[in-house]
Amino acid sequence: MIELLKGKPVSDAIKEEIEGKNSGAHLAIVRVGENPADLSYERSATKKLTGMGLTVSSHAFAADISAEEFKAEFKKINDDKSINGILVMRPLPKALKEAEDWMEIAIDPKKDVDCISPVNVAGVMRGDADAFAPCTAQSVIEILKGYGVDLKGKDVTIIGRSMVVGKPLAMLLLKENATVTVCHTKTEDLAEKCKSADILVIAAGHAKLIGADFVRDGQIVIDVGTNVDADGNLCGDFDLAGAEEAGRELKATPVPGGVGVVTTAVLAKHVVRAAEM
Ligand code: NAD
Repeated sequence: MIELLKGKPVSDAIKEEIEGKNSGAHLAIVRVGENPADLSYERSATKKLTGMGLTVSSHAFAADISAEEFKAEFKKINDDKSINGILVMRPLPKALKEAEDWMEIAIDPKKDVDCISPVNVAGVMRGDADAFAPCTAQSVIEILKGYGVDLKGKDVTIIGRSMVVGKPLAMLLLKENATVTVCHTKTEDLAEKCKSADILVIAAGHAKLIGADFVRDGQIVIDVGTNVDADGNLCGDFDLAGAEEAGRELKATPVPGGVGVVTTAVLAKHVVRAAEM
């Protein structure tokens, strides 16, 4: 049987933690174009944060905005004293690559609630408590802690080495004294590395990449993946139903209803912390 580690109780606990501190905290969401995944994240983040009493403003620009114009608009948002946190939907369109690089340096690290500034990236690397980690990576830690998992000395395998999930999560886990293995597309014997872990975090972005043969009884599986399956339904990187059918006995986060729910709660917590700063 698979015991579900749902995101809601963890998200509710974060909501309680920031209650009373959130009035006036203001997040600006910056979006270029109309990518459906960006729109969906923007909608859920806006709903979650406004539901927690925060203010959210949307700053949407046409997909063909020039680099110069984008930079000027971003500067206004960055300089706006009424804005405490900035979340940029990334990646920006390819034509804005240079503007995106500029933005990473230009963003005020104190408003950088999703860790794009090198200042926060370095802070996460050093293990600074003040640094903003990427919300998704942080949400994996919140889920594990929320369910009372002691990370000290645990073997954790992460699939994925992106700057949003895999790499920063490895640093956050090291800070908790876990022993971390980071896997990627060139990793050999992935199944063995997955099975040998106490905790498996999957952030590859491939629907049902990890099936029953990659997991063993007694593990904890955190599924960060958000994909759309052949029937158009949201699904993770873990084939949870397949593992259940194969009789695996483990704990796993569902998709939807797992990591994503906690990610927006962590975003709210970061914006409140930014406002306090
Ligand atoms: P990415 O594409 O930047 O990185 C994917 C990583 O997975 C790469 O490092 C790659 O080497 C590795 N990988 C891909 N296929 C693999 C394979 N077959 N074997 C081993 N490694 C493999 O993606 P990302 O931005 O890190 O996001 C990962 C997933 O997490 C996506 O599905 C994304 O939608 C999801 N995501 C979810 C949330 C959330 O809040 N739930 C937030 C951000 C990202």
